[in-house]
Amino acid sequence: MSLIDTVESDQRWLRAAIELSRSCPPSQTAFSVGAVIVDSGGALVGEGYSRRDDPHDHAEEVALRQLPDAKDPRLGAATLYSSLEPCGARSSRPRSCASLILDTPIQRIVFAWREPSVFVTGEGAELLRAAGRTVVEIPDLAPLAREANRHLLAE
Ligand SMILES: [Zn+2]
Repeated sequence: MSLIDTVESDQRWLRAAIELSRSCPPSQTAFSVGAVIVDSGGALVGEGYSRRDDPHDHAEEVALRQLPDAKDPRLGAATLYSSLEPCGARSSRPRSCASLILDTPIQRIVFAWREPSVFVTGEGAELLRAAGRTVVEIPDLAPLAREANRHLLAE
């Protein structure tokens, strides 16, 4: 894929992830986030949003759960898109999304909005990078990702 194709496809899938965040059941104590996983051929292999099946669900873990196996061979060349930076620590469950992603061969993670330190300190991007994964932040789309969370932010 050319650089321009990559930029266009990143924008398209990240917007799809943000769109999913609008389906989250409302919460006063957790962000609304959407995530999609796309394979190297541009096919959607997983999608999720916060609290989809359980009040503690994070978008990334819902999307990962749709794969039969964390080592699914399609994941090696896949990209995970999330409206929010994957969490590096969380209070609701023992495993952070960054650590769940590190269990998979997913090499590339794209997100829009860097986690503000409202609930926990966000450091998922740093953890993923330290493990050798490629992390791309697209701050142009952060305002869209924030929109679904306006009620949680003092702006
Ligand atoms: Zn998370």
